[in-house]
Amino acid sequence: MTTPQRVALVTGASAGIGRATALALGRAGYSVGVCARRPGPLADVIAELRAEGIDAAGQPCDVSDPDGVRALVDHVESRLGPADVLVNNAGVGILKPFSELTLEDWDTTFASNVRSLFVVTQAVLSGMRQRQRGFVINVSSLAGRNGFKGGTAYAASKHAVLGFSSSLLAEVRHDGVRVLTVCPGSVDTDLRRDQHLLGEMPPERMLRSEDVAAVIIDALSLPDRALVSELDIRPAAP
Ligand code: NAP
Repeated sequence: MTTPQRVALVTGASAGIGRATALALGRAGYSVGVCARRPGPLADVIAELRAEGIDAAGQPCDVSDPDGVRALVDHVESRLGPADVLVNNAGVGILKPFSELTLEDWDTTFASNVRSLFVVTQAVLSGMRQRQRGFVINVSSLAGRNGFKGGTAYAASKHAVLGFSSSLLAEVRHDGVRVLTVCPGSVDTDLRRDQHLLGEMPPERMLRSEDVAAVIIDALSLPDRALVSELDIRPAAP
């Protein structure tokens, strides 16, 4: 085990996997920066972190907006220090038959799920490379490995996450920066609820957000010389 890196920035941290990951990182000893678009739920999670004695900071922003993300990163760095860990988690899940999918659906999906990777990673990566230390964790999906009916936009965006991640890893691994892509199956969150095109699955059989957070914490606890670069986690008995 290595000494935990100190500051983590989690996008989409006001709900689901992001919220659970922010809490797990805080409990593991990190200071935690957070963002989401809606101020109310974000303020709630910052309060929840602080109530546990975790140093937390964040402000609302859309991860596809470079100015908003720059302001977020400046805000978090000024209060907690530069991010050693970035969790690119924010995302949306618009599942529709292709014949019903609109260009707006497509653009919304790619803004939150793909453009965000460019915008947020650009904002923190140069600092990580200068410090020769960093961990970028990108949340893809099993939909990043397989297509499914209703997934033309979502699965395409999550395939893009894997291509981004493996290419980024090739570029930064010799600069002390590690890159992990996490591909969860169904997790019981708002994003997964009422997605009838994915078929019925009782919520109690789905993964919980805490399960995904736990594998992220495990991957971070490896020594600097070791990297789990891709990780699939699925319900054991869907
Ligand atoms: P969720 O419960 O709906 O939470 C999504 C979080 O992201 C919220 O905090 C949301 O807050 C934020 N967000 C969404 N778009 C954003 C944007 N453009 N800018 C900033 N924040 C944004 O979803 P989840 O299930 O935890 O999903 C988290 C990630 O896991 C996503 O990338 C998703 O694709 C992936 N995933 C989920 C599942 C699953 O079954 N649930 C499976 C595989 C992968 P605001 O709406 O306030 O912005």
